Formats: sequence, structure tokens, C-alpha cells
Amino acid sequence: MKKLALHWQIILGMVAGVLFGVLAVKFGFGEFVKDWIKPFGKIFINLLKLIAIPLIVASLIKGISDLKDISKLSAMGGRTIGIYLVTTVVAVLIGLFLVNIIQPGNMIDEQTRTELIGDNLESTQKRLDAANKQKEAGPLQALEDMVPSNIIKAAGENQMLQVIFFVVFFGIGLILIPPEKSAPVKAFFDGLNDIVLKMIDLIMLAAPYGVFALLAALIVDSPSVALFKALIGYSLTVLAGLGIMIFAFYPLVVKTFTGRGYGFFFKGISPAQLLAFSTSSSAATLPVTMERVEEHLGVDSEVSSFVLPIGATINMDGTSLYQAVAAVFIAQAMGIDLTMGDQLTIVMTATLASIGSAAVPGAGMVMLVIVLAAIGVPEEGLALIFAVDRILDMCRTCVNVTGDATVAMLVAKSVGKLGDPKVKDWDDHYEKA
Ligand code: ASP
Repeated sequence: MKKLALHWQIILGMVAGVLFGVLAVKFGFGEFVKDWIKPFGKIFINLLKLIAIPLIVASLIKGISDLKDISKLSAMGGRTIGIYLVTTVVAVLIGLFLVNIIQPGNMIDEQTRTELIGDNLESTQKRLDAANKQKEAGPLQALEDMVPSNIIKAAGENQMLQVIFFVVFFGIGLILIPPEKSAPVKAFFDGLNDIVLKMIDLIMLAAPYGVFALLAALIVDSPSVALFKALIGYSLTVLAGLGIMIFAFYPLVVKTFTGRGYGFFFKGISPAQLLAFSTSSSAATLPVTMERVEEHLGVDSEVSSFVLPIGATINMDGTSLYQAVAAVFIAQAMGIDLTMGDQLTIVMTATLASIGSAAVPGAGMVMLVIVLAAIGVPEEGLALIFAVDRILDMCRTCVNVTGDATVAMLVAKSVGKLGDPKVKDWDDHYEKA
């Protein structure tokens, strides 16, 4: 019998997880799920995170050492950052357009608003505290944070940009020494890269079970459904924007600039999208995004190893779109009129706030406070959208990851490094793992 394709296996795991979660809530065995199922979800995420730093190190060093000269690296860097910025701004504009047309904030009446804020203020406080710490940072803080003083500590804390900084620096050193000296180092990292990719294949064998555990636990932990209803207009606005990005904007861009079709793109990237949805973390999904983009979308590892880890950290189109919609929604719900200038401020701050958001669950909401502050909307407004944030986080993370993959393909095309996928039939690939 032909084995079910990986993305179907993951979808089955997700559906089964949701059903199991719903049954657990209904028949009162939520505690069982928390004690005996949830840990497996955590283990699965840990495995993915565990592999992220070795993967970035091995594949980035391999990528840079293949470059042979440094000017190529700076050309690729410039293009990567440029395209990332463009896609983020497009996302914000789509979000702003939708929220101004649909006006979901005006669908909320005074009483619901007071209730929502009252119910969620306490749970929102943690995010507000985190955001206030961010706001105190000076203008060059981000630059300062990029340069680590201790690489082991940076890796230990999963500081992706710091690790990338070190590895690029190391790679430049590697290019500059005589070939007879660099050859063994390069061979070592080549081998290491293959090992890590194989480890990802093995982890992915557990993906359907991992997502089952994650979603079952999520349902058991989630707040009551009644709150969702009040926020339906807002949620649908965010989802419409995210839908446009994922199903129209990215495939269209890929088709226009690389000639690759809809089916090819989704078949290649869908397991990473499903994982992004289940984990709500671009960072946890990164190993799988890298593997899919290299082996299934035909992007040379020289490009993907550089573009994707940076993308996971700074390119969050879904997050920026959500921040734009959420900011305007909260303003509308609180009866605050926004001027054209405010809307422009949102374009700028949502772009920057999404760049500054960490690639972990809920980070986009923390940085939303900065957008709110810039347009003079009280930060308690965050409590309004708290109830539906997790589900929207899952969807925006999916967009974030798809955006990174799209840009990797564009950059690869522009430097002549987009080839045929190494793995034509993914089932074969995972069966062999
Ligand atoms: N969870 C998102 C990510 O990891 C960030 C966010 O909260 O928007 O990409």
C-alpha cells in the first residue's frame, strides 16, 4: 500500500488531536491530557529547537564556504533584507486596507468591550510587562544585541541573530585562509550538515504524533468559546488578510519571478506550514522550513542557509499584518479616530515591531504594544483581543514561514541558485529516513 503523503499524515494528526481535546473537555479527562499527552508535544518542539542551532551553524558555514568570494555574500544580504522589507510592508498595507473597509471594531458594543477588557486584563499583564521592557531600549539596542560576547551563551539562549553573526564572521575567515587549510574544516561541516538534515527527517517521522499532542493540549487549555463570538469580525479580518498573503500573494510572486506553479510550491512547503500552525513558532519550525526549501523547492543550501534563519528572526509578514489590523481594531472599539498620519505610523511601527518580534508563540502581541503606543491607543486595549490571540498566532506563524520560503526562492533565482528539487517524491524520502 502506498504510504500517505506527509502533509496528510500531519493533517490527520491535527484533526485527531482537536477531536481528542474536545472529547477530553466534554468528558472531563482534561487532566489526563495535561499529564500524559501534553509532554509529548513539548518533547516534539524541544527536538525541533534542539536541532535549529546545529543546523544553522552547519548549513551556513557550508553555504558561505561554497561562496568563494565575499562580495557575493553582501549582494545576497542586501537583496534578502530588501525583499523582506517589501513583503512586510505589503502585508501591513493589506491588513490596513481590510480593517478600514470591514471596520470590525465598530461591531463591538460598549458592554462587550468592558467585559472583554475586565476578563482579560490580568492575563494580559505579563505581555504588557514584557512590552514595557522593550520600550525602554535605546535606538541602537537591536544592533548592539546582534553582536554576542559569548557564542556558547548565545547558542544556549537560542539567540539566532547572534549565532548568525558569529557564523558569518567565521565563514568569512574560512574563505580568507589558504584552501589547503580550510578544506578539512569545510569537509567537516559538509558532513555535519548532512547528519543534521537526516536528524530532521527522523524527527519528522514523529510529526503526526507531535501535532496530535500539541493540539489536544491546546484545546484542553483554551478559554471558553463564548469569547470567540464577540471577536468574530476581528478574527475574520485578520484571517482574510493572512489568507490573501498565503493563497494569493506568495504563490503569485513565486510564479511571476521563478515560474514555479501553485502545486509545486504548496506541495513543497506545506509540512512546514502545518508545523508552524501547530507550534506557533517560526523558530521551532525553522529546521523543517530549511529542509523543505532546500530539498523540495530547489533552493541551493548556499542561499537557504543564509536567507531562512534571518527570515525566521526578522521577516514576519503575518505578524505585521495582524499588528496593523489589531491596532486599528482596538482603536475603533475604543472609539478613537485615527488620522491618515496615524495609519502611516502604523505602517512604519508594525514593520519595525514585526522585525523585533521573537519567533516564539505570542511574541507578536507583545510587540503590538509598541504600535499602540505610537498612535496613542491605551495599552489595556490588548485585553480586548487576548481571547483569540492563540489561534491567530497559529495562522500568522504559518504566513511568516511561507513568506520566508518565498523570499528564499526569489533570492535563489536572482543569484542563479534555484534548481530542481533534490527530492522529487517526498514519500520516498521519508520512508528511507
Ligand atoms: N508566533 C509568531 C512566530 O513565531 C510570532 C508572533 O507572535 O506573531 O512567527
